Amino acid sequence: MEGRCIMRVVKSVAEMAEVSRELRASGKTVGFVPTMGYLHAGHISLVKAARKDCGSVVLSIFVNPAQFGQGEDLGTYPRNLAGDVEKCRMADVDVVFAPEAAEMYPAGYATYVTVEGISDRLCGASRPGHFRGVATVVTRLFNIVRPHRAYFGQKDFQQTVVIKRLVRDLMLDVEVVTVPTVREPDGLAMSSRNSYLSPAERMASVQIYRSLASARSLRESGETRAGVLTQKVRENLSHEPMFKAEYVELVDADTLLPVQSADGRCVIVLAVRLGRTRLIDNMPL
Ligand code: AMP
Repeated sequence: MEGRCIMRVVKSVAEMAEVSRELRASGKTVGFVPTMGYLHAGHISLVKAARKDCGSVVLSIFVNPAQFGQGEDLGTYPRNLAGDVEKCRMADVDVVFAPEAAEMYPAGYATYVTVEGISDRLCGASRPGHFRGVATVVTRLFNIVRPHRAYFGQKDFQQTVVIKRLVRDLMLDVEVVTVPTVREPDGLAMSSRNSYLSPAERMASVQIYRSLASARSLRESGETRAGVLTQKVRENLSHEPMFKAEYVELVDADTLLPVQSADGRCVIVLAVRLGRTRLIDNMPL
């Protein structure tokens, strides 16, 4: 019987590349879950999906400086490596890759990856350079880990579209798998950033899911006009004065371009500010 190895925690890029070579050489499919840590059930659902499909699971924990803008929360982003390692052990991860920034971006690092167009819209509009940072780190992680499959959450919908385009355009030999959003019992999408919310903000935050769900009900009752569906979301959000909506849009699921009518595969995407916290969510219609 093939026994599973003890989970390894790897810090160096060279060692991670070597471990991946060994996994591939032993005939195992490598499933990869990139994260910024402070793991929650959403991350673990990606691990479970990878565990189901793949002979080995590598999870990376790296708070990527390149995807944070000036004045964003890089310095305060929640971190708990020991807790994360324990959660990975419980979830049957084979390798945790937790490099320092100097490992990922050594002195003289100069190459960045930009997925044009879709990186500039929605979250990219208020976070210039964010998706360049994401595309760069994911490309580098893919080259280090060399996964057969990589797992990303629907929660960060624009990110999944950017990564799929990156993989297609650069002909990267990896299958991108999108995993449904895991929510708290009251509907709030799980996120490491939820830890920033005050109790009052946390209570208010349920309105995000409710507003998306109200648009979905409207769609199910036959409404297809984008303006009406997004207005329903905005109206619901406005019940909670703490919110500042950054964007609410109905977009094509593949191109992220705005659509006038919810006939094809489309998604309502939104970003709101709740106090000092920026939250995103979306719902396929
Ligand atoms: P993060 O650590 O926030 O960068 O997220 C790492 C991965 O986990 C990304 O692919 C996210 O989309 C995914 N993820 C984060 N939150 C959730 C969630 N609530 N449900 C499913 N996937 C999630």
